[in-house]
Amino acid sequence: MFRIRAGFVHPVTAPPIEDGAVLVDDRGIIAAVGPQPLVPTPPGVRELAFPEASLVPGLVNTHTHLELTHLASRNAEREFPSWIRALRALKDATTSEEFSRSAERGVRDAWAAGVTCVADAGSTGAPLEALARLGGRGIYYQEVFGPDPTKCGASMAELGQAVARLSRLASSHLRLGISPHAPYTVSEPLYRAVADLARREGWPVAMHLAESHAETEFVRDGAGPFADALRARGIAVTPRGCSPVAFLVQRGVVQRGTLCIHCVQVDQDDVELLSRAGASIALCPRSNRAHGHGTAPLAALRRAGLRVGLGTDSVVSVGDSSLWDEAAAAGLEGADALRMLTLEGARALGLENQIGSLEVGKQGDLAVFPSAALVRPLPPSATLLTVVAGRVVHG
Ligand SMILES: [Zn+2]
Repeated sequence: MFRIRAGFVHPVTAPPIEDGAVLVDDRGIIAAVGPQPLVPTPPGVRELAFPEASLVPGLVNTHTHLELTHLASRNAEREFPSWIRALRALKDATTSEEFSRSAERGVRDAWAAGVTCVADAGSTGAPLEALARLGGRGIYYQEVFGPDPTKCGASMAELGQAVARLSRLASSHLRLGISPHAPYTVSEPLYRAVADLARREGWPVAMHLAESHAETEFVRDGAGPFADALRARGIAVTPRGCSPVAFLVQRGVVQRGTLCIHCVQVDQDDVELLSRAGASIALCPRSNRAHGHGTAPLAALRRAGLRVGLGTDSVVSVGDSSLWDEAAAAGLEGADALRMLTLEGARALGLENQIGSLEVGKQGDLAVFPSAALVRPLPPSATLLTVVAGRVVHG
């Protein structure tokens, strides 16, 4: 049990409290939030004080690839399809021990940046193992690949084995989900099989969607670098005559709560399709900028009532895990940025009843930053304290 006092406490669901405090009980649940004199100090409670800082809900990173932490600044390819190919080669050259260490570093880097919940996509399972070992919170989506429709069964069998192995690690803090990677790496039958499986089992689903121009060209026209690469492997490519979003929403692959990552190449019709499907969106503004994909229409997505969170994507694209920088890149600051990085991120993951704000009964997931972080982005190293489920994990 501990009590944290701060110059400002930002519950997010209530106005900021000057000289406030939060009490977290032995179960790691928030027991009191309020002006400092009104928050009880039970006997034996551990007290921490940050008079010059702001106490906020732990940040929610809605898109990471923690198993790739060791590959930061290792991919010099510029053009996106070549970058993806180079990334695959770098992954193929990584041992399972390296993935394990890399994911563990990724978890610790996230905590050091004030992040208490990650929505992570990976193919090795190492991020889920690291989160379980270290006591982190998040959703890990096991990726499935297979652009050749004739090999759908093999991809599903591989996914089944991975999920059977990893499901033992799921807990109240750690969910296991699945992720059909992207339209240029997943065939239509595989998308359908994954969506059916997720529906049957009630598993969360995440997918990269509408990220690059090359992806739109591939889906709509059956042309461009992704199509050329598949045809070179003898895999048939079908022009769909519609956008990637329309392709997957119309086939029932994007369902209520499906986390659609990126959503840069979308028009107003796509936004409405996503909204009607009940999708959630993870935006990665700095990754999109780094790859030259453009900018997702945040205002239109929000106007359509979509649940939108921000993610840092992999450090191979972006270089660090600063969500404050993502908020700034999305044009958000102050209370708007804080809300997006906490409660809105939690809503995008369907976790808003457990995390995302400082309220009695919610999980004790907290972060303490110098107050300036709410005005201008600060480096991840500025984080003073990070707490997950009532346990100090950084600071
Ligand atoms: Zn990604």
